Amino acid sequence: MDKRKYEKIKLESRCLFLSGADNWHTRELKELGLKSILMTDGPNGVRRCNSDSMVIEESTDPATVFPTNTLLASTWNKELAYKYGEALGTEAKDKGVSILLGPGVNIKRNPLCGRNFEYLSEDPYLAGYISANYINGLQSNNIACSLKHFAANNQENYRNLINEIIDERALREIYLKPFEIAVKNSHPKTIMTSYNKINGYFSSDNKWLLDDVCRKEWGFDGVYMSDWRGLGHVVEATKAGLNLEMPTSGSKNAEDLASAVKAGLIDEKEVNERGLELARLVEKLLKTKDDNFKADYKSNHELAREIASDGIILLKNSDNILPLKQNDRVLYVGDLLYKDKFEGGGSSHATPKDLKNLCETLRDEKAIFAKGYELDKEKLESSLIDEVLEKIKVADKVIMFIGPDEKVESEGYDRKNLLLPRSQIELINLITKITKNVVVVLINGAPYELPFVGKINGLLEAYLGGEAYAEAIKDVLYGKSIPSGRLAETFPIRYEDVPSSKYFPGGSQTSEYRDSIFVGYRYYETHNIPVRYPFGFGLSYSNFSYSGLTTKVDKNVLKVSFKVKNLGPYDAKEVSEIYAGCEVNSVFKAKKELKEFVKTALKDNEEKTISIDIPLDNLKYFNVKEKKWVLDGGVYSLYVGGDSHKEAIKCNFKVSSKVLSENPYNSNELPSYYNGDVKNISSKEFSKLMGFKLPSKNAKWFPPFNEDNCLNTISHTIAGYILKKEVKNNPTLKANPEYLSQLLQMPFRQLIMMGGDKITREEIKGFYDFINGHMNKHNILLVKSMFSKI
Ligand code: BGC
Repeated sequence: MDKRKYEKIKLESRCLFLSGADNWHTRELKELGLKSILMTDGPNGVRRCNSDSMVIEESTDPATVFPTNTLLASTWNKELAYKYGEALGTEAKDKGVSILLGPGVNIKRNPLCGRNFEYLSEDPYLAGYISANYINGLQSNNIACSLKHFAANNQENYRNLINEIIDERALREIYLKPFEIAVKNSHPKTIMTSYNKINGYFSSDNKWLLDDVCRKEWGFDGVYMSDWRGLGHVVEATKAGLNLEMPTSGSKNAEDLASAVKAGLIDEKEVNERGLELARLVEKLLKTKDDNFKADYKSNHELAREIASDGIILLKNSDNILPLKQNDRVLYVGDLLYKDKFEGGGSSHATPKDLKNLCETLRDEKAIFAKGYELDKEKLESSLIDEVLEKIKVADKVIMFIGPDEKVESEGYDRKNLLLPRSQIELINLITKITKNVVVVLINGAPYELPFVGKINGLLEAYLGGEAYAEAIKDVLYGKSIPSGRLAETFPIRYEDVPSSKYFPGGSQTSEYRDSIFVGYRYYETHNIPVRYPFGFGLSYSNFSYSGLTTKVDKNVLKVSFKVKNLGPYDAKEVSEIYAGCEVNSVFKAKKELKEFVKTALKDNEEKTISIDIPLDNLKYFNVKEKKWVLDGGVYSLYVGGDSHKEAIKCNFKVSSKVLSENPYNSNELPSYYNGDVKNISSKEFSKLMGFKLPSKNAKWFPPFNEDNCLNTISHTIAGYILKKEVKNNPTLKANPEYLSQLLQMPFRQLIMMGGDKITREEIKGFYDFINGHMNKHNILLVKSMFSKI
């Protein structure tokens, strides 16, 4: 890319180049003969739209739908994560897509987040290492990833305007860590900023986040793009380092940026740098495009099946009810046999190339099927119950498929509770009165309360397994694949046990992360809270033993070695989880934290020695006073085992650290953090942790209202009431309540961006005047005209 030639392009055109051409393309630079490139979702399938449509379910070109990222993370298998990314890369290449919008590595802070199925884990190391391998695989095909959503997009409620109040230690150690690991280990070519604000700044406009931390500290050398319509303010964002606003919002932002250059509000050099970084990437991606490339969809389907079966988790297996034997007479129950549920809702929704239906896959001469319940009904129907009760008489075992309706788990909104449909629970209760020989297979995107586990013999977590989910479930049920998945998130007993349950999702303005670093198992284990199934849990049909754990600190590395043996009776895979805990308690810490993991295939009776190096950097905590990572010297415990509860083997090791650091905390002011009891943190204590007075949780009640308001936050005013009513009565929106609720939470800034150049500046002014009380005829006409264009 010729810098001098680039700088000669008209300022307005250079500014325009920093935003998309449409929903999915970058702009061409005719002056340099630079063509545009295509990008598309998403993390678990290439969702190339056949038009410029943003409508998710329509007009997408079929592709292999891989297991959702939750199931990928449950494999704890770095090799498969690489292959997953690699296969996605081949399909992107085949379809002429240059940037694939994924993976999403946001931490599952709270199980209600609607988008958890798309994210990897509650643990930053697991999310970080799995995503780094995914990205390395994807980018090996010269397809760029877009690591998202940077950062702290941990809820869907008010996601476009919420201000996440997070202490820097939690940010660094939990919420930024997976991004840091991915950046350092896989050099993502692009990163997508998140919609939300962090401590007052939109991510797209956050210089500290984009430039100081990610570029300068971690070495990110790619391109930043905004999430769709997630640009905060064009001048601040360009200064912060954002290269590309996606998708197009017309030319207003470019005009504003050019005017800011002329007014001396931003140095033209910065505008050029952003453009050149983008242009260089586009140029590189165009060069490596291969229009003749053909992906092998058949083998990708088989890979999707292998990954799904590697991730499915065996949670209970009393009396060895599984694997099923060839001569077992099995009654399969559930509406989910007939209604294919294999991915979540929202932008990750892809059209499958070769979807296999569950009922058809399980069908053989002996199989018996009954619907049992209707997925979208809360009440059981007596005819369906009678059918189950009749058929159960001739069955040896019952396999029940349960899970929520597909609308429940989606981008755009959070779940309301952790409850499975009442009808399904009732049916389990009815069936288990007759027999305990029941295996429940969960088909869902995130944890649910499972009050029935004591009544059944078997439980499988199959998550949302992609187009080959049915074959993968069958492989695990019949032992063709020996289960080796482990939970990448905790299943609490009740929602009330979740550390952030009292703070999630916050108000319309702020979401307070009072739980700080104590996310998921970091809380449950430190504060001894019983859970239904712990992080890292998962059984096998085989058995394993551990021995010979040794550690040695060698320069900046902890060398760990141990033996793992497959005691049989099957050839199988074992995940070895390595946790460390620090006995030094000057700053508050979790009891133990995952630091590494390795998955090993072992033949029946085989033993292997595993040696693994853990950088001592992974044991550091972030000192918020000194603004640096600190390694506490002292005694540490190391736990190695097949799941976090078993702690098969344990040893201590000593770390000597010459760096003396000042304790950033006063333990008397932060008692709850020091004893890990973070569920009821007072405003006073949280404010001490944050070091400032907490901003108001909800929007201002009185005008003036600005672009950060939305229809919901002004609905108590006359103007707001009228507008909200109009929008709610719109027939298209009425038919789509999920979309309607997102629109009501959308900041006006974004609502206006949706209209692009069709909306005039006069209309925008009229709109703001109207909502601020100037409800005259002129403004009413302008508002009407503006809304007709959105
Ligand atoms: C999502 C992104 C997605 C983009 C494009 C946004 O709403 O948050 O994850 O990549 O849409 O579909």
